[in-house]
Amino acid sequence: MRDIQSAAVIGSGIMGSGIAAHLANIGIPTLLLDIVPNELTKAEKEKGLSLSNRAVRNRLADEAIKKLFKQKPAPLTKKENAGLITAGNLEDDLEKLSQVDWIIEVVVENLDVKKQVFEKVDAHRKAGTIVSSNTSGISVEAMAEGRSDDFRKYFLGTHFFNPPRYLKLLEIIPTKDTLPEVVDYMKTFGEDVLGKGVVEAKDTPNFIGNRIGTFGLLQTVQVMLKDGYSISEVDSVTGTLIGRAKSATFRTLDVVGLDTFYHVANNVYNNVEGEEKEKFSFPDFMKKMVEKGLLGSKTKQGFFKKEGKEILQLNPETLEYEPRQKLQAPSIEMAKQAKRSERLKTLVYADDRAGQLLWNTMAPSFIYSAEKVGEIADNIYAIDQAMKWGFGWEQGPFESWDSIGLEKSVAKMEEEGKTVPQWVKDMLAAGHTSFYKKENGKLHYYDNGTYVQVADNPKVIHLATVKQEKEVIKKNSGASLIDLGDGVLNLEFHSQNNALGLDTIQMINNAVDEIEQGDYRGLVIGNQGKNFCVGANLALMLMEAQDDNFFELELTIRQFQDAMMRIRYAKKPVVAAPFQMSLGGGAEVAMPAARIQASSETYMGLVEVGVGLIPGGGGNKELYRRLLERMPKGVNFDLQQVANKTFELISMATVSTSAHEAQQNGFLSSDDGISFNGDHLLYDAKQQVIALSEQGYRAPQRKKLPVVGETGYGTLLMAAKTMQYSGYVSDHDVLIASKLAYVIAGGRLPFGTEVDEQYLLDLEREAFLSLLGERKTQERMQHMLVKGKPLRN
Ligand code: NAD
Repeated sequence: MRDIQSAAVIGSGIMGSGIAAHLANIGIPTLLLDIVPNELTKAEKEKGLSLSNRAVRNRLADEAIKKLFKQKPAPLTKKENAGLITAGNLEDDLEKLSQVDWIIEVVVENLDVKKQVFEKVDAHRKAGTIVSSNTSGISVEAMAEGRSDDFRKYFLGTHFFNPPRYLKLLEIIPTKDTLPEVVDYMKTFGEDVLGKGVVEAKDTPNFIGNRIGTFGLLQTVQVMLKDGYSISEVDSVTGTLIGRAKSATFRTLDVVGLDTFYHVANNVYNNVEGEEKEKFSFPDFMKKMVEKGLLGSKTKQGFFKKEGKEILQLNPETLEYEPRQKLQAPSIEMAKQAKRSERLKTLVYADDRAGQLLWNTMAPSFIYSAEKVGEIADNIYAIDQAMKWGFGWEQGPFESWDSIGLEKSVAKMEEEGKTVPQWVKDMLAAGHTSFYKKENGKLHYYDNGTYVQVADNPKVIHLATVKQEKEVIKKNSGASLIDLGDGVLNLEFHSQNNALGLDTIQMINNAVDEIEQGDYRGLVIGNQGKNFCVGANLALMLMEAQDDNFFELELTIRQFQDAMMRIRYAKKPVVAAPFQMSLGGGAEVAMPAARIQASSETYMGLVEVGVGLIPGGGGNKELYRRLLERMPKGVNFDLQQVANKTFELISMATVSTSAHEAQQNGFLSSDDGISFNGDHLLYDAKQQVIALSEQGYRAPQRKKLPVVGETGYGTLLMAAKTMQYSGYVSDHDVLIASKLAYVIAGGRLPFGTEVDEQYLLDLEREAFLSLLGERKTQERMQHMLVKGKPLRN
């Protein structure tokens, strides 16, 4: 198998450009081709261009690349990645297809068009080049018809979900001719290089995710219409309450676009027969919506519409917009109080409107999923994984079905005259009362009369499983110290929102003690919460400040700083593994580590000014030190620039939109690692510890840092004052900025003085505490705690 080092994407629309961006983010040079336009635009005419100009002929792909910079959420992890994408067209650049290792077709969803494209590809590709289609549901087998033998052996479906950078699922659909080694290679490539959750699907209409997903959405619409719920009533119970995406049912459709959804639903409708066909028929009012252009976000009106500040909902009968109302029912309140694992059960059996809505939509979806096992996927596990990765559900249909109690729910279904698939009844009759079970700590799923173990993936470490298998070394309310094996420990934060408190600080010290004194190679600081860490415990700090307990606060901040210094100077390597939000204290914990192994999706920043503070756990010093270390050795550089950059990043509370951007900003160094598959993060971090230890890791030498001193302080201050004059910032912002400037400049010393890190930490602590005593800072903290957003005062 030829390793994929380069690629060509054919079709530069929404998906094609997104896939090209994802490949570029990973570092794969990608050719992006589209059709040659047959008409000049006004601008092209004005420039005197003709249809034979290269700029015109490449227009579609060129414009698609330009659009990548403007799209939200950003398809590129850093703007420079666009440089890896080369625009071309399907007439002048076909030759180039012989030079790439993977050709992905992403043109309009039309079999004839796709077949024409593949004919050209077949004529130009080198033998042994993998070719795939990103079709949402057209038969992969049909697309390969008429192609050469070699083409057919290397051809398969690779179905990305939109947006390709962010959605985890990649469905792989082989044909009967695809070589098994091609399928295996693409599965591994998809997981390890593209960072996706890979599921093998069968070549059936819409594959797995869109088959089950579309069924569920249409079923929900039917229940809504039949039982008289409103659009927003449905959304208020079908989102996060039941572990599904925040955009629930109709907001999701608005984002997807109703025309696209119509197309996807129709594809099943046109390709199945009998009762099933009817389940995929598109409701009349939604057809009318498509006709009227009520398509969702792209036409600014769909199931919802924003008018001024108010969001209105569509009335399906009148197609007029009206105020929204949430569904209110006792079961919703009960579910909110219940444990997460009990929520769905609390809801679906409740005899109120929320309970009925959920039962009437979910029960048919469970049954439908069970009917499709074997037809669309080999087993229930593949279906569950596809639904979780493709739609952001916490649980797949079979996991959800287990969670409401299989026996009880099947009894209720039968009572209501629903047809439960025979295999489910047989399974129950044989005494198997759940689809999943754990045996010897390993997860098993039911398959054809037996339970099959989910294959171990050594690159996916589940801390919860590790904790079940091995005794936790130390634990308190904020964090646990866990043995990952191979001489590597893991410090897991698990307080609410993973906020740092005294308990976490204590565990950081314990963890460093343990690796230094015990027979260990080193430590990973990593967890599997929603975010790595969103900062220090603000509520506690505010309480102490309001009680004037500045003596205690001083002590706490000092302990925080000391613990960060222990991470930095630990005798054995500490590797931090940030992901998602890694803000304030979260960034401060990561930066002193010997290495950072960050998930590609890491949003890192020192955001303390938003609550009227500056970093207090060594963040100012660490960011400054990291930026200093980037400077070339033995060459004169402008120290003031380093101070300015540090000041700018902290005073603007800049948050990186990816690990790549964090690297550009200096939060991460070029030695730090990036994991494209978030599920591999802890494994990758553990490997870093092992590698550093094998290389004979020693604590870094403590070096003095040069500071810009008094003159540099003046320069920084001037920047803040200029902003004040221009009216951008408040007096309090200027006060914070001036304290920050003082800390970064190293106080009133001569320019270039070299200081010990502790000196900078002392300045930082003093400035932090003085700000904490300010009324306006306390108001900002209070506002953040109550409202969850910054106060401008
Ligand atoms: P799109 O309309 O945004 O882009 C289609 C591209 O095909 C355009 O760049 C267009 O110029 C090109 N094209 C049109 N006619 C052509 C021809 N005759 N020859 C070659 N190229 C031609 O569509 P999209 O949403 O990016 O979808 C592309 C593919 O990806 C489809 O197969 C679709 O089913 C699939 N898909 C879409 C989504 C989604 O959410 N949009 C998700 C997964 C898969």
